[in-house]
Amino acid sequence: GIGKRFSTAAALEDLIVPPVQIAYTQNLIDGKFVDAASGKTFPTYDPRTGDVIANVAEGDAEDIDRAVAAARKAFDEGPWPKMTPYERSRIMLRFADLVEKHSEELAALETWNNGKPHEQSAKSELPMFIRLFHYYAGWADKIHGLTVPADGLHHVQTLHEPIGVAGQIIPWNFPLIMFAWKVGPALACGNTIVLKTAEQTPLTALYVAKLFHEAGLPPGVLNVVSGYGPTAGAALASHMDVDKVAFTGSTDTGKIVLELAAKSNLKPVTLELGGKSPFIICEDADVDKAVELAHFALFFNQGQCCCAGSRTFVHERVYDEFIEKAKARALRRVVGDPFRKGVEQGPQIDTEQFEKVLRYIRAGIESNATLECGGDRLGTKGYFVQPTVFSNVMDDMLIAKDEIFGPVQSILKFKDIDEVIRRANNTRYGLAAGVFTKSVETASTLTRALRAGTVWVNCFDVFDAAIPFGGYKMSGIGREKGIYSLHNYLQVKAVVTPLKNPAWL
Ligand code: NAD
Repeated sequence: GIGKRFSTAAALEDLIVPPVQIAYTQNLIDGKFVDAASGKTFPTYDPRTGDVIANVAEGDAEDIDRAVAAARKAFDEGPWPKMTPYERSRIMLRFADLVEKHSEELAALETWNNGKPHEQSAKSELPMFIRLFHYYAGWADKIHGLTVPADGLHHVQTLHEPIGVAGQIIPWNFPLIMFAWKVGPALACGNTIVLKTAEQTPLTALYVAKLFHEAGLPPGVLNVVSGYGPTAGAALASHMDVDKVAFTGSTDTGKIVLELAAKSNLKPVTLELGGKSPFIICEDADVDKAVELAHFALFFNQGQCCCAGSRTFVHERVYDEFIEKAKARALRRVVGDPFRKGVEQGPQIDTEQFEKVLRYIRAGIESNATLECGGDRLGTKGYFVQPTVFSNVMDDMLIAKDEIFGPVQSILKFKDIDEVIRRANNTRYGLAAGVFTKSVETASTLTRALRAGTVWVNCFDVFDAAIPFGGYKMSGIGREKGIYSLHNYLQVKAVVTPLKNPAWL
């Protein structure tokens, strides 16, 4: 029954062999691949089966120390921060070209290690990765300070300098894209980097870091360490020689990272954390279009998006029709081997996330939300979850409050705009929001009233290198992408010189 409704059982039984070899599993420190100082390795998995696909060097405090020393030296002695910005830009562009050349292997590796549909990796995420580096390469030679009209007695200018060694900690849901959001602006501004990948998805970052060196990046500028959060991640966040930390992941871990930074050397921290984003469907909405967009907003990337539209608010006038169609759409969702063409949903990342999603589904059922469809795993191996829809969800239910990070849509009913604004904002998060309406007035009211870093109107998950992204409230601190992201990686120095002849100012 299940197989027929959500997918074909065959899609899970008969796995496709990924067309790629795993070439890089060691840490990349000072331009060289090296084993972990301890000699330890840890397994990385294929989420389709839970089978081990490679053993990867397990970095911890000692490896972070070596990587930071390399980054420190590369920053203090150069050549990277002292190169002309144009030269830096050229290396970044050459890197983007090399990634383009290796797109096929990279897309296959991304899907193999993460489980996301291969079409998404190949047609959306690789091109976006390349776009991000083109964008940041373009910024490298356009970063400059100001001349400030001060007291008339002094010439005052600001120099925008790189901040130094950046420690970057990324999650597993978009391994390549998260690499680009972090590494792109840091390098464009002339910093050096120690990047710690998520323990679930170490492979593509090592591959692209290798390509960066082929493109001419000097050794020590970009160091990549694989390893766990409480060991390698914590060592990076608390390191005295790291000048800045950027983190993406859960809100709980974000608090730890901020605390470690404060307790060590007070390095500035940017955080991109969780969300419980509302998607608001107004009474004038075209229901078919709204259903499709709300479905995409939640289920995209197996529901593993920090900005997922995970509270679907539907106006009471269109509510019943919406529920019926949202359920039908979820039942049509194609779940299966992510390498298979036409598959919309692959497995969740790992056993921990898979179990967590199933626990939330049980909590939804126990709290008396109406389970419209789904509600269980799919197949008997790997981490596949049935697309699940709950209706009659109330604001105080766990599934309406917590970030589930899985393919579970929670639908809530509302009556009027003031009410939905109040309820949509009644969350500790504020990452994103969606609005679906034909009315310009309703749209302008909602876009201004919603406390979120992004509001998508009649669209969702529209991303571009130039569009800033980040959270209000407990969804984070700071913005990534766009011009705003450069501020995270720059120091401002004021240079003040007496004027010989103030009259000429
Ligand atoms: P996490 O916050 O534990 O992991 C994110 C990164 O932080 C990983 O690289 C991890 O190794 C590292 N980390 C973990 N503990 C650390 C510590 N003590 N010090 C320094 N670094 C540490 O997230 P997760 O366990 O992978 O996922 C848990 C939840 O986080 C998800 O269910 C989801 O709610 C949320 N999440 C959000 C995003 C996002 O984009 N905002 C991405 C992934 C996960």
